[in-house]
Amino acid sequence: MPNRTRMIAGNWKMNNDVPAAKKLAEELVAAVPTSDAVEVVVCPPTIDLACTSHKLAGSAIKLGGQNVYWEEKGAYTGETSTGMLKSVNAEYCIIGHSERRDYFHETDEDVNKKARALMAAGITPISCCGESLEVREAGKHVEFVVDQIKKDTEGLEITDPSKYVIAYEPIWAIGTGKTATADDAQEVCGAIRKTLVEIFGQETADGIRVLYGGSAKPENIAGFLEKEDVDGALVGGASLVAESFAAMVEKAAE
Ligand code: PEP
Repeated sequence: MPNRTRMIAGNWKMNNDVPAAKKLAEELVAAVPTSDAVEVVVCPPTIDLACTSHKLAGSAIKLGGQNVYWEEKGAYTGETSTGMLKSVNAEYCIIGHSERRDYFHETDEDVNKKARALMAAGITPISCCGESLEVREAGKHVEFVVDQIKKDTEGLEITDPSKYVIAYEPIWAIGTGKTATADDAQEVCGAIRKTLVEIFGQETADGIRVLYGGSAKPENIAGFLEKEDVDGALVGGASLVAESFAAMVEKAAE
């Protein structure tokens, strides 16, 4: 039986200025239970990474970025390098979030380059994929996501499968209050796993965590976690309230 440690990762998106980030980080340290059964990550905006890192120091909560650029340094105004993420002890980084794909035109090729740069630096990508409502209604969601996975992972060498994470986030369920059912999530997460087996072989595929994301909250997380190929959640809205996020971690630790 595959033995994957569950993950609950919070995506703060463009919320919380520095004082608010410090406050939330303090509240999380106090509220989030520590358990070997679940890895907990928070991904604040870049401006908040340093102060959040400081507040999380000594706790079991790990830090992640929300974006990265693949070059090491230079004239790339507004970008953040892997070295900069490492300098604040970020161990994870979200890439390919649908908001970045939609609003900032991030492509699968970009996602692949970001994954390579992160992995070379020893930072774990949380690589997002997911279909629009239009694709889902056309019944092409599995095909669409499998294609994203193939492009996003192209040529990656995964030596430690615990250091590459995928988040399946159907776009129509993000921030809308509309959740996919646990069966919907399993259908796509199962297809992702099968694709990973084809690409990397069974052993590696068995070690890669596949998270669900899209209006996940304390009330519905348990249903997702029961599914064979769902290893946790990437959480937006509910990660901004310490009690909600802590309750989700608690459920994942059961
Ligand atoms: C997200 O953006 O990663 C997300 C899952 O958001 P929400 O939980 O708010 O739907």
